[in-house]
Amino acid sequence: MIKFINKTVFVISALIFLCAVCTEASGVKYIFVFIGDGMSAASESAASRFLYGQDNKLVWHSFPVRTFVTTWSLSSYKGEYKKDNFDADKGYDISAAGDKPYPYLFSPQAEKYFEKSEATDSAAAGSAISTGQKFFNGSVCLNNNNPVKNIIDIIKENGGFNTALVTTTLFYHATPASFSSHNKSRDNYRQIAEEILSKTKPELIFGSNDFFYLREFSQDNGYYLADSSDIGKPRVFDDTADKKIFINLNNYSVPAVRNEWNEPDFIYEENNIKFKDMILLSAGLLLDKKKKFFIMAEQSQIDSANHENNYVKMLASVFELNEGVKALVTLINSGKTDMNWNNTLVIVTADHATGFLRFDKILGRGQLPKKNIILGKNILKRNESISYKTTKHTNELVGCYAAGADSELFYKYIGKLYKNKNIINNTDIFNVLRETVSNK
Ligand SMILES: [Zn+2]
Repeated sequence: MIKFINKTVFVISALIFLCAVCTEASGVKYIFVFIGDGMSAASESAASRFLYGQDNKLVWHSFPVRTFVTTWSLSSYKGEYKKDNFDADKGYDISAAGDKPYPYLFSPQAEKYFEKSEATDSAAAGSAISTGQKFFNGSVCLNNNNPVKNIIDIIKENGGFNTALVTTTLFYHATPASFSSHNKSRDNYRQIAEEILSKTKPELIFGSNDFFYLREFSQDNGYYLADSSDIGKPRVFDDTADKKIFINLNNYSVPAVRNEWNEPDFIYEENNIKFKDMILLSAGLLLDKKKKFFIMAEQSQIDSANHENNYVKMLASVFELNEGVKALVTLINSGKTDMNWNNTLVIVTADHATGFLRFDKILGRGQLPKKNIILGKNILKRNESISYKTTKHTNELVGCYAAGADSELFYKYIGKLYKNKNIINNTDIFNVLRETVSNK
């Protein structure tokens, strides 16, 4: 039986994070929201086992706040939804689906529930996290043609914080879009991109871009434009402290995975950028602006790998996210910047689960399934140690982890939706963020 709360880890991490907090009054200056797109609890377990030989060893598993999140959207809600009076079981039926996700809990009844349940998409889930409201799939912060304020809108109104979107995919893709635009469809890429660059105008955008005209469009809207393949060159970011920055991500892919002698090993393409480089550069550029900031940072390929039922690519993608969060935690602990656990809030979560990954046997450190079967559309196969039951999203609970200043705000919401259960609604992440950015 896997224990979600390892007491030793809990005590040590509580000491590391909480002692720092109690020495000074809380005042959040720096906020990081990491989203592993499509990162099911099983994806986290698979990566943790591959890297460390056991569950719950990824860097966020030592954060003091560890809870599970319901991800359902209005498209998956079974009934007529009213914002202030809804039945949580019609979004996620805890009696059928369980109070923990697989692999912490397995029941044939829950498996049947997930097979039958509709699931959210990234637009509705991202919008719920960013606005505190539920949406139909495909909608980006828009309900009945009414734009709903997201956390970046609120920050812009209140002032005080710079904002940044960092993603390993298109900067106008569903997840970053749901923090920075309002549209009836996530597929309206041009409209979304133009809204981000000309209206929302976060101080930093770091993501890929398939529309060539947006390069000039970004400059016309006051952005300093750089390509990520040029960031190692001298003077690329000299004199940008007073400018908005758009870094066009043009050299990113997740590493290949090798497991010689059962040693996990990741091989990057030459001259490619890593997610951790993106995080450290983004934090550095915003710290240079000498102002409080909010960063939404997404690792997107976890979702696409799970859609492809590509276990190995999923491991590499979760590894990338883990490396990014680890690099940030190391930087905060180093004391080399203004960031510390009194003034920095770090949240790691997933927008939804993808792939319905199940383990037929437990793989140890550095072990991969005998065959890496990449499945075609709707062709569901098994191999000797893992199986994917779908190429789509599922309504399973996902993880949410928080450390640092104001992370204790999560305790207001844990166990509220489902009494005494270690579960929050994805809209509660917004509630925490709103309180954090508003009360200072
Ligand atoms: Zn997806």
